Amino acid sequence: MYEIARNIQKLSLIGQLSAALVHEIRNPLTSIKGFLQLIESGIIEKNYFDIIHSEFQRIELILSELLVVTRPQVTVFHKQSIQSIIHHVIALMQPQATLHNIELISNLANEPLWIECDENQLKQVFLNLIKNSIEAMPNGGQIRIDVTKASSFTKIRIIDQGCGIPKDIMDKIGQPFFTTKKNGTGLGIMISRKIIEIHKGIMNIQSEEKKGTTITIQLPLYTLNIS
Ligand code: ADP
Ligand code: MG
Repeated sequence: MYEIARNIQKLSLIGQLSAALVHEIRNPLTSIKGFLQLIESGIIEKNYFDIIHSEFQRIELILSELLVVTRPQVTVFHKQSIQSIIHHVIALMQPQATLHNIELISNLANEPLWIECDENQLKQVFLNLIKNSIEAMPNGGQIRIDVTKASSFTKIRIIDQGCGIPKDIMDKIGQPFFTTKKNGTGLGIMISRKIIEIHKGIMNIQSEEKKGTTITIQLPLYTLNIS
C-alpha cells in the first residue's frame, strides 16, 4: 500500500507539471523551427547554428532536471543515515564552492540518524539547495549545513549569507519555472519540495534580502514499524 500511495503522488506531480512544461518547451522549439525554416528558405545563413544549439541545450537542461522526479521507475526506499547523504553531497559541491570563494561548513550530529529514503532523490535535493546558495553568493562567504535530531525527526538546515529573497517574490519561489536567474530553470525548489513530500517531510524557506537564506528540512526518522 505504501508504494502505491507514493506512486499516486508521483503521478499527480506529472499532471501538475505537464501544462507548465509544454509551455516552457514550446518556446525554444518554436524558435528552433523558425530558424530552421529561415535557413531552408535561404533568408539567413547557417551561422544561426549557435542560437539553435543553445535552445536545444535549454530543452535538454529542463528535461534532465525534470527526469529526477518523473522517471517511470518505482522509487526505491532504503534505510540510510542522513549524515552519509549530506557528506557525499558536500564532497560533490566542494570544487564549485571553492571556485566561488565559498566555505562549506558542516555540523553533523554524531550519532547516525537513520531515515528511509531514495538516496539519489535526496542527494538531488541537497545539490539543488547548495547550488542555489552558491549562486546567491557571488562575492563568496560561508554556507553552513547543520544536521540535528529533533524528537522523531531529523532537521537539516542550509544557511547562506547570500542575496536573500525579496519579500514580494517569496510567494512565487517554488512555482514551476519561476526564476530570477538568466540561465535558471526555476525547477530546483519545486522538485526539492516534491521529493521531500514524497519522503513525508517538510521544507521551509526563510530569507532576508541582502542577509541570506535558511532552508530547513525535516524528515521523519526511521522506525521499525514502517512497512
Ligand atoms: P533556479 O535556481 O533555476 O532559478 P530554483 O527553483 O532553484 O530555480 O530557485 C528559484 C528562485 O528562488 C531562484 O531563481 C532565486 O531567485 C530564488 N532562490 C532560491 N534559493 C535561493 C537562495 N539560497 N538565495 C537567494 N535566492 C534563492
Ligand atoms: Mg536552482
